[in-house]
Amino acid sequence: MTHPVKIMKIMKFGGTSVADASNINKVIDIILEAKKQENHIVVVVSALGGITDDLITLANLASQKDAKYEIIFKAICGRHDQAIKELIDPKDQKQVLQEINKKYGELEEIVKNIFSAKEFSLSVLDAVMSFGEQLSSFIISEGIKSRGVPCEFVDSRDIIKTDDNFGSASVDLEKSYKLMSDCLKEKPLSIMGGFMASTKNGITTTLGRGGSDYTASLVGAALDASVIEIWTDVDGIMTEDPKKMKDALLIPEITYEKAEEMAYNGAKVIHPKTIRPAVLKNIPIYVKNTFNPMGSGTKISNGKKEK
Ligand code: ASP
Ligand code: MG
Repeated sequence: MTHPVKIMKIMKFGGTSVADASNINKVIDIILEAKKQENHIVVVVSALGGITDDLITLANLASQKDAKYEIIFKAICGRHDQAIKELIDPKDQKQVLQEINKKYGELEEIVKNIFSAKEFSLSVLDAVMSFGEQLSSFIISEGIKSRGVPCEFVDSRDIIKTDDNFGSASVDLEKSYKLMSDCLKEKPLSIMGGFMASTKNGITTTLGRGGSDYTASLVGAALDASVIEIWTDVDGIMTEDPKKMKDALLIPEITYEKAEEMAYNGAKVIHPKTIRPAVLKNIPIYVKNTFNPMGSGTKISNGKKEK
């Protein structure tokens, strides 16, 4: 069933939600369920859980001329190959692997250059880190297609433009909102990687660790979305860190201000930069649990009752 009015939903999945094929299948279930209700969805995904750290280790080892980088490189490829094997229809695997092998080749070349050239810059590190999202977003888009649902893979670097403050680049909002809106507005279901962007000259940048939440909220603001959902592995924003405190309680509703304050004070659930773009367009953000999708989660909003 489609809505008479245009509903645009942004759904972001990260961390353990996308750690492996079995979790990614849960993510795809959630996306396909949402697709029954909404006529426009943009999905933003992070790297497979732990891969960004592995990529940083890879780059660091290569810069220290430590040949052990090759082991890490193989392990990174192995995890993605495994996900492809489990997620993609066997008849399409060859073609998907071809694309992915191209990406592995690009990454290997960059890392070999780090190894041989001694020179190692933040710009090169951003290029290396971006492979986490480049790979995960492509694989997940193919995984959705394998479940019989058409979707479009979008390279975020083409539609999010930043300055060249590598490692934590600032987004050119005006330019990026226009590019995002032009690219995504009419598509029923798009899949893109979070965290990565590029300069006006096309050099890859990143938005800071954990920045995929911020990507989702930028996309939401650009498209005037009805809702932004941040899907994670806890039930929502809790009174305490649920990984440390057993009796942490779920906060069902919270204002933008309070959520932002908690995020800046180190609550790990959402990236602090996520709130601003949503506030300006008054878009509610829901924090939800991939492993308990029926849970109500936490609603972050201006706190006013809807009309
Ligand atoms: N993969 C990136 C990181 O680990 C971005 C994200 O997870 O949001 O920092
Ligand atoms: Mg990550």
